[in-house]
Amino acid sequence: MHFMHGKGRTMSEEEIKVKGELLVRCCPGCSVQFDEPVLTNKWHKCPVCESEFLCRINPASKIEN
Ligand SMILES: [Zn+2]
Repeated sequence: MHFMHGKGRTMSEEEIKVKGELLVRCCPGCSVQFDEPVLTNKWHKCPVCESEFLCRINPASKIEN
């Protein structure tokens, strides 16, 4: 009996795409509020204090303001 070993199942490298959500509404540095919410998981430069920040918000944890 012939059984094929290794069915040619190749582990394709999954491309992990970082998905951002429009959840960042204020600068973590100077806490200025933006006109429009910006994406999480992206680098942004605050137009006010000019600090660059990366906001990561865990959707499981609610942030109360
Ligand atoms: Zn700022």
